[in-house]
Amino acid sequence: MNIRNNITNLRQNLPDGCTLVVVTKTQPVQKIEEAYAAGHRIFGENKVQELLPKSEALPRDIQWHLIGHLQSNKVKYIVPFVHLIHSVDSLKLLEEINKQSAKVNRVTSCLLQLHIAKEETKFGFSEKELMDLLSNPILNTLANVRVVGLMGMASFTHNTEQVRNEFRGLKNLFDRLKSMALPKVMELTTLSMGMSGDYRIAIEEGSTMIRVGTAIFGAREQV
Ligand SMILES: *Cc1c(COP(=O)(O)O)cnc(C)c1O
Repeated sequence: MNIRNNITNLRQNLPDGCTLVVVTKTQPVQKIEEAYAAGHRIFGENKVQELLPKSEALPRDIQWHLIGHLQSNKVKYIVPFVHLIHSVDSLKLLEEINKQSAKVNRVTSCLLQLHIAKEETKFGFSEKELMDLLSNPILNTLANVRVVGLMGMASFTHNTEQVRNEFRGLKNLFDRLKSMALPKVMELTTLSMGMSGDYRIAIEEGSTMIRVGTAIFGAREQV
């Protein structure tokens, strides 16, 4: 795989207003340096224990995104530097991010993860849970988080119509929320959807942020 070419090609074909997060999970630092040398600065990891050593080893001007499931007890390690957390899936987690961010005097940007896939295993709020969250007065007390959008993962299937419908549903929800009176911690600008196998569909359905690993680095080794 030619990492530089893959990133350049991807970026050239992105519509205005759509951001590429290069997903570096399981990739060694040297591969990430190749992506960095191609001029890319926005990287995503799905595990805190992998993100920490990589953020130490690599240049400071990288914007690190945490894209995978986050446990409350690990929040404190990433809030001092993380650029965006894509995977907030409970109020408890959002409160912990707020608490730890206050300690280091930061406001941490977050996305709420919605469960849009048919599969049981994926994390995220249902639409009903999201609506309940939005009406919870606790949200108004959170001064050290900013909810800047939504994230979702489509079903892992070759049925592209299903994938499209799942993305369309999320975009629809995103637009409905934007037209509502929301708690002041919410400032919706970002819709994170689309991975290597489905980012083209996601872009057609209105994604503003795609998270791509395999299409840039090749298949990950099984661990
Ligand atoms: C691994 C991962 C991706 C990227 O997956 P690819 O298929 O390699 O592009 C995107 N989002 C999340 C949450 C991931 O864990």
